[in-house]
Amino acid sequence: RIVYVNGDYLPEEEAKISIFDRGFLMADGVYEVTSVLDGKLLDFGGHAARLERSLTELDMAAPATTEELLEIHRALVEKNGIVDGLVYLQITRGAPGDRDFAFPDPATTPSTIVLFTQNKPGLADSPQARAGIKVISVPDIRWHRRDIKTVQLLYPSMAKMMAKKAGADDAWMVEDGYVTEGSSNNAYIVKGGKIITRQLSNDILHGITRAAVLRFAREAQMEVEERNFTIDEAKEADEALVTSASSFVMPVVEIDGVALGDGTPGRVARRLREIYLDESRKTAI
Ligand code: PMP
Repeated sequence: RIVYVNGDYLPEEEAKISIFDRGFLMADGVYEVTSVLDGKLLDFGGHAARLERSLTELDMAAPATTEELLEIHRALVEKNGIVDGLVYLQITRGAPGDRDFAFPDPATTPSTIVLFTQNKPGLADSPQARAGIKVISVPDIRWHRRDIKTVQLLYPSMAKMMAKKAGADDAWMVEDGYVTEGSSNNAYIVKGGKIITRQLSNDILHGITRAAVLRFAREAQMEVEERNFTIDEAKEADEALVTSASSFVMPVVEIDGVALGDGTPGRVARRLREIYLDESRKTAI
């Protein structure tokens, strides 16, 4: 596989990063994941805009313009022959000479930028989407700037492992009784045909797929409500689903062992997945 590191396209074995990189030592970095269908990037503009915001919030310099990033994404998709898959991008605050909590001077410590692809043949028609996924609830003990897409992903990884151990597929994180989001996705319930998802704030990541799905839902005259919902309300909902760039729209069929509806993907979730895939393919670049 050919990867990109600080200006170079290299075979992955030849790509090198300093052991002093603050991404490695301190999780001082941000990332984006953009999906590729039929060789084209989905919602690249949204991911690039969120990346810029993450960098700004952390006082980190952007090492490339949006146009340059697009060029790198496209080059990697082409060099690796990706038809369906993902492009991962990470920018960290670089590698000063020593470990220090204070941020280094960006003039002498340039940020580190890495991109690589993941090949996922048939990404859009996953068997998991046909069956739906099971989630468990776990406490949300993450920091309170979840709107910044940092590489600080230890707790979400632990939440995912708790889910696996419990025989489920993923975890929904709960704070003060309310669902914040999934371990790596935004969470929704459906009641009486209405799509309900938590309002945007620093408590959740502002999902690019979330924004697109809500826009498409409204355009299709579906009712959308952005508000908090409790885990108890979720267990009594007609349907549930999650969204992310890599899973698109994924139906949730069970929460903490409680089956929703008849325990199969709901009508609204299936429709949203179809609309999202159709519409976002049209604007893929
Ligand atoms: N919330 C969290 C915590 C995530 O990690 C992700 C995926 N990176 C999302 C939501 C979904 O965001 P997006 O639709 O932009 O992939």
